[in-house]
Amino acid sequence: MASFPAYFEAVMSRNQEPHIPPRQIVDSWPDELEYAGDPISAPWLRDESQAGRAGVTTRPRDRVLVELGDSLPQLGSNLADPGRLFTGLPDESVDNADAVAIYRPWHFFRDEWGIEIYEHNLLRFTHQIAEAMCESPYLLAPIVFRQVLEHEYAHFDFEVIATRFEDVTADPCYREYCLSRYALRVRDEQTGPLEEAIATWREVVFARRTRGVLGPASSRYAKAVEMLSREAPSGYRDWPLLQDPKTRGSVVCDLCGGCILGYPFALEEGDWWRSTRTHRAEVPLRWMGEHENLKIFGAREKEWRRPTIKELERWLKSTYGASITRGKGSHRHYDLGNGVKGTYSTSAGHLLRPEAKQLAAKLEFPSDRELCIAILQGA
Ligand SMILES: [Zn+2]
Repeated sequence: MASFPAYFEAVMSRNQEPHIPPRQIVDSWPDELEYAGDPISAPWLRDESQAGRAGVTTRPRDRVLVELGDSLPQLGSNLADPGRLFTGLPDESVDNADAVAIYRPWHFFRDEWGIEIYEHNLLRFTHQIAEAMCESPYLLAPIVFRQVLEHEYAHFDFEVIATRFEDVTADPCYREYCLSRYALRVRDEQTGPLEEAIATWREVVFARRTRGVLGPASSRYAKAVEMLSREAPSGYRDWPLLQDPKTRGSVVCDLCGGCILGYPFALEEGDWWRSTRTHRAEVPLRWMGEHENLKIFGAREKEWRRPTIKELERWLKSTYGASITRGKGSHRHYDLGNGVKGTYSTSAGHLLRPEAKQLAAKLEFPSDRELCIAILQGA
């Protein structure tokens, strides 16, 4: 299966062509677009300070690619001081998953796409839910992390859907959707963006299915998540729109056709819009916080190694169409044809750290670690 960045790139570069008006329009919008609440853009385009992610660190050295552990950790057992993390947190509440993490769509962020998780707000969000159900935050930390990811993966799903539309219609709809149609009113009952209602519904469904891990605490957890989601901002709190299986499909179709495509469009109802586990595994997860706290959330730094010279060269050629020539001794030159040139040594058999750092800077990767992971994924 083609990886998503490659697919996104292929569709977007094709759609640089002059706009081709799509056919099969079943109706047309009124002249005046109506919004549910304020005509806002998607949260990933908003100023970070307004999005409630206060107190986060965004220094590149603090951002680390992570993956979820295979099993949930023994509760609090691997902590030197389990009382430390959840004490002294600021009082102001975190009222939705997008204040804890954010999906950065490939259409806007390219190599920086993926889900960013803000540890500081994840701690506060976990604490709130734990308090609502009179439970230890340590019991819930790995679960709440996955709950937030459920929400963010829904945003990923809709970027994939939008790209599939762009593929078929040659109409670059996703950027415009995020900028201006995100909060469009397509259903009378909406109080805000429909995509947030669906993403929050995913959280509620996730919470209702935790019996296997939480045991008897599961129903209290589900109730706490539902209660806090009802107090969430407009759009987010509209998740009960998805409760009724009879109307659920039409809500998704209204979002996909009306908002994302930009004109009412008849779509089949069903689960076609959901990504698979394999698709989700491609979404980079970036942890904005302390490395050593990852284990509390049942996550770890993504495993990586330095790519071999063969893997490096294959990646440079397939991604950039690089030309590679022999230099002095064990050195080789690469030329990406866009002004980016350099050399590397083949003597160690793998890409050396200083050379990886240089190449990462030239290709605007945040660090040599992210470059190496990109090479390993693409090679
Ligand atoms: Zn959201």
